[in-house]
Amino acid sequence: LAMKSQPNHQTVISLSKQVIIGGDRLVVIGGPCSVEGLDQMEQVAQSLSAIAVAALRGGVYKPRTSPYSFQGMGIDGLRILAAMREQYGMPVVTEVMAIAQIEPICAYADMVQIGSRNMQNFELLKAVGQIDKPVLLKRGLAATVEEFVMAAEYILAHGNPNVVLCERGIRSFDPFTRNVLDLGAVIGLKQLTHLPVLVDPSHAAGKRELVPNLAKAAIAAGADGLIIECHPTPEQSVSDARQALSLEAMAELITSLEPIAAAV
Ligand code: PEP
Ligand code: MN
Repeated sequence: LAMKSQPNHQTVISLSKQVIIGGDRLVVIGGPCSVEGLDQMEQVAQSLSAIAVAALRGGVYKPRTSPYSFQGMGIDGLRILAAMREQYGMPVVTEVMAIAQIEPICAYADMVQIGSRNMQNFELLKAVGQIDKPVLLKRGLAATVEEFVMAAEYILAHGNPNVVLCERGIRSFDPFTRNVLDLGAVIGLKQLTHLPVLVDPSHAAGKRELVPNLAKAAIAAGADGLIIECHPTPEQSVSDARQALSLEAMAELITSLEPIAAAV
């Protein structure tokens, strides 16, 4: 069950020998919205491996609003992610959108992401319940906390205990931020469940200038870590350009998180 059985019950999930989510140390996952090419990912991995970013993200199967937008590099993108893992020793996380993508993704990635748009794709949840890789489950665009927890429950019930929850903002009436980061839900999920909770301030904010302080607020609220979008040339990102941090801004943010992480 996703619910806590005792107050100090906490699931700890390993992406590799060194990278553990839900333990004493804050885990930051960073990388672009989409894998765009080898050169882009090399710049990202080189830069992030030199700071305290534990794992790399990058979508290769992208859930785009428009069918005419870039849909992701697919298998070629997976090979780039695997090459970065090899070269820089960083575990990699990427999104799965369909049952048929599970096998290739599991062959290359260390963690499988279920995106917001698929949080209640129950057949996909059941299918990732049967894999032996950890799952990063993002909250649905308009999902209640209960629906979110029950989506995690699907994965656990089908045999995979390694689920990390990710709050990434929910829809509201106000277009000022792309979504509204629900820190109350982060606190509540930490109290109710034993699963690690990450926060994605990038998709919540939708604007890069809001990301650093939302990240700090998430740590202060008790999140186990963060997943943040960044890019060597943010304005040129093929997807989610407006919210991408530069690699320099990412390094600055990581440094500024240390005192907050030490205080909670
Ligand atoms: C992503 O991580 O790039 C993504 C599409 O996120 P979400 O599912 O939270 O919108
Ligand atoms: Mn994105």
